[in-house]
Amino acid sequence: MSIYLDHNATTPVRPEACAAVARALAMGGNPSSVHAAGRAARALVEHARDEVAALVAAPASTVVFTSGGTEANALALESAVAAGARRLVVSALEHDSVQETARAAGVAVEVLPVTADGVADLAWLAERLGRWDAADGRPFVAMMLANNETGVIQPVAQAAGIVRAADGWLHVDAVQAGGKIAIDSRALGADTLSVSAHKLGGPQGVGALTFGPRATLSRRQHGGGQERGRRGGTENVPGICGFGAAATAALGDLESFQRLADGRDALAARMKAAGAVVMGEGAPRLANTLCVATPEFTSDLQVMGLDLAGVLVSAGAACSSGKVKASPVLTAMGQGELAACAIRVSGGWNTDDGDWNRLAEAWLEAHGRHAARRRQPAALGVQA
Ligand code: PLP
Repeated sequence: MSIYLDHNATTPVRPEACAAVARALAMGGNPSSVHAAGRAARALVEHARDEVAALVAAPASTVVFTSGGTEANALALESAVAAGARRLVVSALEHDSVQETARAAGVAVEVLPVTADGVADLAWLAERLGRWDAADGRPFVAMMLANNETGVIQPVAQAAGIVRAADGWLHVDAVQAGGKIAIDSRALGADTLSVSAHKLGGPQGVGALTFGPRATLSRRQHGGGQERGRRGGTENVPGICGFGAAATAALGDLESFQRLADGRDALAARMKAAGAVVMGEGAPRLANTLCVATPEFTSDLQVMGLDLAGVLVSAGAACSSGKVKASPVLTAMGQGELAACAIRVSGGWNTDDGDWNRLAEAWLEAHGRHAARRRQPAALGVQA
């Protein structure tokens, strides 16, 4: 059996979510139908909406279900542009769903830099918003709550103070933070905030955006008026029910989730002793995430070596056509060559100490083999 330590990519579905999906599928009914079956389906959707609202401490009436985190981010950014934003400030840490939507929005995009520890630079933000040109419309800032690669938790509440002082709109991608730390969207000062079911033990293909009173959401999809007219189309009832059940289960597990840091840190200590460097170690991080780089041991070699040993993690760098592309996040952190030598290890609700240990053993073995191979040509050279 393989060891799955890639929960930030997608988390195995929790049994509570599986059961809720199966119940909804068995029940059937269209939430827009006025008859009994429709009313029952509507009740399921609204119950799930309450559960997702509780996850982020938002009023249920402000939760819009979407097809995932990507669409929730797009809804926020496109709404801001429709409301008049002409320049979007996007942190260098943001997920492609934010970066690419911003680039495709037809307005100016500016990158908010990050520190070497992977924390958004608030001094830069304050200075930039302090000289905002009114011709650019209301300032719009996208800053995620926790980074998918490093797990670094961002100073969103402080950023919100800066954005609010400039009468701006702060969008918070909380896709990786949802179910991993307590989130109070209002206390954070988020004007819009996105979450995704499959990052916390729900099914893939369902997410949500919540919005505060200072955000005006536009219509994402025309159609039958579902989601209070914001997103037409028959709701993904099974997915939404699975999302709600996963959100409730994750909220209940928040305390035990923090204990993942023990196994994660024990693993990090063993890797560091072999020369690895932990990314964002000096900043507050999600308890489940370890982004660790090893000089001259590229990400793809590490991921493949671990895969052969039955341990599944992800590259902190993107691989395409056999070439390693350094992670833009780690590059933005100024990590240079190390950015192409990182892996991301992420545990979750079903991870135990044995999993971290198995990874440590497999990684140390792969690292030892790699180091021996690197020594070989030099040794041959001496013989020749
Ligand atoms: N935002 C972040 C930070 C993510 O890590 C991801 C997924 O990897 C997304 C957004 C996209 O979410 P989804 O896969 O639900 O579209």
